[in-house]
Amino acid sequence: MINVFKFGGASVKDADGIKNLAKIIELNKDKQLLIVVSAMGKTTNALEDLTKAYADQRPDMQQIFGNIKTYHQNILLQLFEDENHPVYDEIENSFVEIDWIIEDEPHDEFDFIYDQLVSMGELISTKIVNAYLNHIGIKSKWLDARSFIHTDNSYREGNVDWNKTCKSIEKNIPQVIQDQVAVTQGFIGGTSENFTTTLGREGSDYTAAIFAACLNAEAVTIWKDVPGVLNADPKLFPDTIKYEELSYREALEMTFYGATVIHPKTIKPLQNAKIPLMVKPFLSPLESGTCIQESQVKITQPAIILKNNQVLLTVSTPDLSFITEDHLCDLYGIFAEEHVKINMMQLSAITYSACFDADDRRFPKLMTALEKKFKLKYNSGLELLTVRHFNREIINNLTQNKAILLEQTSRHTAQMVVRNI
Ligand code: ASP
Ligand code: MG
Repeated sequence: MINVFKFGGASVKDADGIKNLAKIIELNKDKQLLIVVSAMGKTTNALEDLTKAYADQRPDMQQIFGNIKTYHQNILLQLFEDENHPVYDEIENSFVEIDWIIEDEPHDEFDFIYDQLVSMGELISTKIVNAYLNHIGIKSKWLDARSFIHTDNSYREGNVDWNKTCKSIEKNIPQVIQDQVAVTQGFIGGTSENFTTTLGREGSDYTAAIFAACLNAEAVTIWKDVPGVLNADPKLFPDTIKYEELSYREALEMTFYGATVIHPKTIKPLQNAKIPLMVKPFLSPLESGTCIQESQVKITQPAIILKNNQVLLTVSTPDLSFITEDHLCDLYGIFAEEHVKINMMQLSAITYSACFDADDRRFPKLMTALEKKFKLKYNSGLELLTVRHFNREIINNLTQNKAILLEQTSRHTAQMVVRNI
């Protein structure tokens, strides 16, 4: 049976991580495996920074690039003693590709350049992982995800052409993984003109789900630095519990509200194909983790989801007239046009409020577009707190020392835009 394993940036952040990945593959050698890998550690952030530095022609551009190179070269040195190993040249060539892009003046659109540069993180990590697996005797083949994940040319949020994608995957992959593992990139796709797209930050999980759905895989396993899906982010809350089992529906809701353990787009294709999604700790690969599947299991422990860096924008009409459906139509149109995704919103007689992630490029454009028709006020540096299966006690606890700017509750979910006081 085919299984898809996804290894995120944290699992391959150093040479030990890659060795550990190899151990997990070893433990699962009875399975036919497709391995989807993210960029190493914080490489995507670094490449994002490089892209911005390039777009703005900042003086620190070469330094950022230098750091990215050194980071990967150090990992190579720890994995491959023989510096004549071909992987050194292969990775060097990828850096030359980056160099070609950034030595020209930036003429193209930012989102396009972003995808051509940022995708290099996954291309490089998978080349290293693939070479290492072969090096230690695990037969492995590198696959270019851009030949399988076909998207339109919405750069930075490529929309997958499922028909074309499934055809390519079904036709080629089952054969490849019959007697070897295949290693491919998460997060990236290709357009019909052979340009690279990305699927949105943290999109590697989604890649794993696409491959699994098209291959009708037995399961997808996402290997994480946490024991499974927890009821809160352990970096923010000390006492977390792990869910043994979650329904697709519950997992979908959690990701919708901002739980970062899994990318929001991951669940639907798996649910449609009835493929279970396992979330397991890469440091204890034999633990049970969390299984997400069709399930009636009742959640008893509230799930707490905190999103930082939120903006709350309040819009009113210039003459303080009521906000009507026509205004809303205009407003949503502008948000969609400027690619700003609304996390929470509320309407009162003369104001409309929306909470969304701060984005230093999209936000000013949104403001400029809205200003033409509306009066605007906003607060930034806020948090969006969501509690699924809430009770009053937990809400009171969580909102101590916080000012609540906007609040909404439904039967299962309480949401608040808050500011620390
Ligand atoms: N490397 C990409 C990111 O950091 C995709 C991923 O890790 O899922 O956003
Ligand atoms: Mg990740």
